[in-house]
Amino acid sequence: MITAQKGTKDIYGEEINKWHFVENAMRKIFEKANYQELRTPIFEATELFARGVGDSTDIVNKEMYTFEQKGRSLTLRPENTAGVVRAYIEHGMHRLSPPVKFYYTGPMFRYERPQAGRQRQFHQLGVEVFGIDAPSADAEVIATAITFLNEIGLKDLELEINSLGCEKCRSNFREKLKAAILPRLDKFCDDCKMRYEKNPLRMLDCKNLECQSYLAEESIQNVIKSEFICTECQEHFEKLKSYLDELNIKYNVNKLLVRGLDYYNRTVFEIKSNSLGSQNAVCGGGRYDSLVETLGGIKTPAVGWAMGMERLMALISDFKVSRLDAYIISQSTKETLKLAQILRQKGYKTEFDMQGKNFSKGFEKALKSGAKYAIILGEDEISQNKITIKNLDTKEQQTITLEELFNKIE
Ligand code: ATP
Ligand code: MG
Repeated sequence: MITAQKGTKDIYGEEINKWHFVENAMRKIFEKANYQELRTPIFEATELFARGVGDSTDIVNKEMYTFEQKGRSLTLRPENTAGVVRAYIEHGMHRLSPPVKFYYTGPMFRYERPQAGRQRQFHQLGVEVFGIDAPSADAEVIATAITFLNEIGLKDLELEINSLGCEKCRSNFREKLKAAILPRLDKFCDDCKMRYEKNPLRMLDCKNLECQSYLAEESIQNVIKSEFICTECQEHFEKLKSYLDELNIKYNVNKLLVRGLDYYNRTVFEIKSNSLGSQNAVCGGGRYDSLVETLGGIKTPAVGWAMGMERLMALISDFKVSRLDAYIISQSTKETLKLAQILRQKGYKTEFDMQGKNFSKGFEKALKSGAKYAIILGEDEISQNKITIKNLDTKEQQTITLEELFNKIE
């Protein structure tokens, strides 16, 4: 038997109803907030991710699905910010009046160890806002994420925020952090040793518990807890916090939060759930004011986030599924096909007994289908141009004309 690949899943049955529920909420919330959907290709030039995600990240170093075709190196997208930025530059969107706001959803691919909440093909929903450096844009993307999560019934979530400062304050901090870590460097994991050279800030969110315990040392903690960001970055962060307060959005400042990608500056944030076990991050994002320029565009400030759809699905239990309105039982296939078409055109969710062997079998199927009404088209009904309708909840039954039927099930 050929099976789905490790770390990938078919989505069907009850589960797909949940996805539709979330996707409907997504369209409603993001359209209202004036975001436009952007659909980018699933594969891109490998170089886009190497430059756009950063070559000190786990994503680029260990997790990409890369293949070669006719001498070109291509990669299945591991995330979509780089793709959105590429599209923004390629279509000259800097000419549009800012903010330029996108949302996207679709599959992403990372070669990771599959476990609960972690797949190799997973789906993200994300937003990106271009052209605004004011903290109002940071507040807007965070608030939209929270509104969306509330809309799908998720309230028990924790928002963590931090500011990484600008390139200037970060380089200062980086040097101090490196100096504090140096005496202990040989104890850190191999990944951290590599990060020490390429992007030492990322050592702060190493998942290795031993590395975490070395970071807990006082000399290192003093650097982490110091107010290293410059006055301008401080002001930006204070304003963001005041906007979140105004919107009644609760948050914790977590100075260890640096996020896994190389391109962030100033604001970074994560939304976590306590009921997800160790894969607890639902949403991650931040500001990336230099990425557009890094990828060859005109310097443009930007801020965005991405959510893991599978992790959202694991948190949702309460959602509405649309029920069948009508189930037609008849031995006359022609009449049934015609009636099904009329009912569907009128907007009723309709199914019929395609085998049409006998009424009692058809009736069993109607009950099993969960339909509100069984519609019976026997010979008598057909000759009188009527139907018999049975309410499957109340068991009440009547023989009526089509016109009366439409009035009834409206
Ligand atoms: P994590 O720390 O869980 O690996 P990350 O920092 O790699 O997350 P991002 O790249 O910021 O995650 O992606 C945003 C969101 O996408 C995550 O918060 C998570 O909900 C989801 N996500 C990331 N990787 C996976 C995966 N392999 N399987 C399922 N969901 C994922
Ligand atoms: Mg990851």
